Amino acid sequence: MKLHPSIDAARVIQAVEGDDCMGLCAACGADAYGVEPDARKYECEECGAHAVYGAEEYLFMGDLA
Ligand SMILES: [Zn+2]
Repeated sequence: MKLHPSIDAARVIQAVEGDDCMGLCAACGADAYGVEPDARKYECEECGAHAVYGAEEYLFMGDLA
């Protein structure tokens, strides 16, 4: 999966450690709140793409910058 360039390891780790149910949109890079850590393909409120994943999901994708 192609990730938005603004999503990097530091940002994902910060989101995971924040422990406040934060997700990120892989399409536009927007923060998403109230997202379960294992959420996948939720709709993004910013761009409408079904590309919001929970922060922990990004750790498993393995292709973070
Ligand atoms: Zn988006």
